[in-house]
Amino acid sequence: MTLPSTDAKLNLHAVCRLPTTWGEFQLHGFIDDDTGREHVALTMGHIADGAPVLTRVHSECLTGDGFFSRRCDCGPQLAAGMQAIAAEGRGVLLYLRQEGRGIGLFNKIRAYALQDQGADTVDANRMLGLPDDMREYTMVHTMLGLLGVSTVRLITNNPAKIEALRRLGIIVSERIALHVGRNTDNARYLDTKMRRMGHLADQHLESDPAVAPL
Ligand SMILES: [Zn+2]
Repeated sequence: MTLPSTDAKLNLHAVCRLPTTWGEFQLHGFIDDDTGREHVALTMGHIADGAPVLTRVHSECLTGDGFFSRRCDCGPQLAAGMQAIAAEGRGVLLYLRQEGRGIGLFNKIRAYALQDQGADTVDANRMLGLPDDMREYTMVHTMLGLLGVSTVRLITNNPAKIEALRRLGIIVSERIALHVGRNTDNARYLDTKMRRMGHLADQHLESDPAVAPL
């Protein structure tokens, strides 16, 4: 099945129901014809009515999203994003296939190995000759357009993501902070994201009671 598209480079190919722990979403499958990557969107409710839409733009993290890794906060952030959308009964979660902040799974494993020897997340990437963050968001504009969404209330702690979306012409009407998933194994990583990558930390909703306060 191929549905109508407004962009030749990225097309919506299929839609199905996806019942989850937190409610029933619609799962939309997209293919980027330039990269061959398969991106997906989870949606709930009537999102194409013009009102701002609660939105999470989540980049793939196999270890965090699929293997319950405590090295990062991706898994809890994914779950919290889906829960927030389900609680409102309306929203979009875009799941972008750019693993390891875009460096790919194998490079991420190599970077983790360097971190095991003491490097932080930024230095590990640099030791591998890789940028700190290779993610890009041009597909977001097309995906949201195909879903009928132009204005988002964005769930993120990352100002660079807000700027990237605004540069694409997406209206970000509100930022919704999301601080979940801090634990004893990822505290240093999360601190590095704040200290060296500009991530915001205006509140801490600790999800792991074993963690000592900052
Ligand atoms: Zn992760």
